[in-house]
Amino acid sequence: VKRNPGEEEFHQAVREVTESLMPFILQHPRYKQAQLLERLTEPDRIIIFRVTWEDDEGNFRANRAWRVQFNNSIGPYKGGLRFHPSVTQSVLKFLGFEQIFKNSLTGLPMGGAKGGSNFNPKGKSDREVMRFCHSMMIELHRHIGEHTDIPAGDIGVGSREISYLFGQYKRLSNTFVGTLTGKGLSFGGSLVRTEATGYGCVYFCENMLNRLGDSIKGKSVCISGSGNVAIYAAEMVGKLGGKVLTLSDSGGFVHDPDGIDEEKLSFVKELKEKQRGRISEYAEKYRKATFHADRRPWDVACDVALPCATQNEIDQRDAETLLKNGCIAVAEGANMPSTLEAMKAFREANILFGPAKAANAGGVAVSGLEQSQNSLRLQWTHDEVNTKLKSIMKEIHEKCVHYGMKGDHVDYVDGANLAGFVKIAESMLAYGAV
Ligand code: NDP
Repeated sequence: VKRNPGEEEFHQAVREVTESLMPFILQHPRYKQAQLLERLTEPDRIIIFRVTWEDDEGNFRANRAWRVQFNNSIGPYKGGLRFHPSVTQSVLKFLGFEQIFKNSLTGLPMGGAKGGSNFNPKGKSDREVMRFCHSMMIELHRHIGEHTDIPAGDIGVGSREISYLFGQYKRLSNTFVGTLTGKGLSFGGSLVRTEATGYGCVYFCENMLNRLGDSIKGKSVCISGSGNVAIYAAEMVGKLGGKVLTLSDSGGFVHDPDGIDEEKLSFVKELKEKQRGRISEYAEKYRKATFHADRRPWDVACDVALPCATQNEIDQRDAETLLKNGCIAVAEGANMPSTLEAMKAFREANILFGPAKAANAGGVAVSGLEQSQNSLRLQWTHDEVNTKLKSIMKEIHEKCVHYGMKGDHVDYVDGANLAGFVKIAESMLAYGAV
């Protein structure tokens, strides 16, 4: 706390990981001796820069941008870029720190990083977003590269933004290489990348349920968010026979007691991905649904909860309400959506709780597969990528079970932290004092 004053989100992420790792590290003196935790919690470097751009009225505007290159022990830095007014160094450090363990869990050679800006794409024209992205890349391109650091999307950074960023990178570097992932299909993107985080989260949840002889089929599911992760989590829940009751955005949530099926989800995709509209419009179209302004969906009774919007969107009260209403499984599509108190409540209740670094690793895993395809100069089919994604999520689940078994119960939080840590720790030990 003294070393990083005021960085609350970062403290929260480090506390969660440290609590899991400490007993393990104490049992293994060579990890302790090498000061691994101290080294892991200090980013390799943080690049901070100004992005100046011109709005449609001809005014100059300035934002702050960062790239937090956290740890490249097991591969080049990799992690998304976030554009949101709430972005601070603390938020990007928490995300970058989590990314180290998540990327390790995928089994692919990727280090941890994160970046972004406090730029708010909401309400901006396409041209303004383009000018911002092009300007940002003028600085960022010096620090990234296919063997150095490979950014991707996150909140506020979807295919439009990645395309503008990649176009400018290509021009500045005079190369055509896979330095960004989440690219369009016509210029090096991977099939299933758009769907990967949401699908992967549901596959992880299905794995947790299957282990207990259960499945998503027939379950009622509350989802928060209506962005990239939420939409494709909802799609996969439907495919596996579950019923999605809610979606949300920063304006509130919609509750559809009949379920948000494939056809209704197409409407949401059009609304959110193309028109950049508000989720409240769902309840204007589907009259049985209700819109609840400025509220989160966790009061709606469900079997499964998939938080897929943002950090700290489930607090202790929300967790207690979910438990009281009979929720049996939570899989985190978003990063750190549960507060420490909420996590504690879920773990003490012994329900299935899939933490973000395991449950949402499908996105970065397919980004890794996008890099492999770029290097091979090949494009795999939808089925090939989806099959690989499914098996990666299964393997992540198995690693969590291996490291998280406590009697007849699996603590997925400890499992994910330990499984992610060991590979990085062994690499850092082998390198010596670097
Ligand atoms: P999007 O920008 O596509 O969607 C974000 C959704 O969350 C929107 O519905 C947005 O509503 C809502 N939201 C964002 N901030 C807030 C807030 N402060 N309060 C309430 N609602 C909010 O982002 P993604 O779907 O890509 O990302 C969602 C989460 O998943 C993030 O935590 C991200 O880090 C994580 N994640 C994403 C991955 C990916 O592949 N995209 C990979 C792994 C994790 P509104 O439109 O009103 O802002």
